[in-house]
Amino acid sequence: MKRENTLVPKPRSHFVSVQCNKCGEKTTVFTHTTTNINCKACGEPLAERSGSKAKILGKLLGTLDQ
Ligand SMILES: [Zn+2]
Repeated sequence: MKRENTLVPKPRSHFVSVQCNKCGEKTTVFTHTTTNINCKACGEPLAERSGSKAKILGKLLGTLDQ
């Protein structure tokens, strides 16, 4: 008998570090943001809300776990 061992991807929200494509400013973005995030330095859009998860528009530098 084979046991079902399904790995359910946990919808974990986390913070990511995003760099602005325009000016290079780094901003911490919550991946489940419900608002659009713009660069605080130049106003370039960095993340756009799409459904439950944000779409990262800038350069994704990495995940900041916890
Ligand atoms: Zn910028």
